[in-house]
Amino acid sequence: MHELTLLVGVTQQIGEVVRENNIDHVDAVVLEVGEATTVVPEFLRDGWEVLSDEYDYLRGAELVIDIIPAVCRCRECGTHFAPEENEGRCPACESSDRELVSGTEFLIKEIRLLE
Ligand SMILES: [Zn+2]
Repeated sequence: MHELTLLVGVTQQIGEVVRENNIDHVDAVVLEVGEATTVVPEFLRDGWEVLSDEYDYLRGAELVIDIIPAVCRCRECGTHFAPEENEGRCPACESSDRELVSGTEFLIKEIRLLE
């Protein structure tokens, strides 16, 4: 379950922001998680419940997960398409030579504070 490892990294990053900006408490954290990663959002939520409780500045903070859809680009003709469409081949030219251009994200998008 590497979600916990990822979350530890997230809490450390938030910890730095909190210290640098003299923030007492974070209200919510928004994560961007790509569809093509192996991260399971449910495990993230479970881990968050345990981990966020260990830090005063995170206790009770909500975890919001933004899923970023996986998008491929055809190397032959440049068409963008979802990799699960058309059995992974380009819908325009049927080429299977493609690269993933979106969907591998894992980052903190936003740290929300109570006004
Ligand atoms: Zn193509």
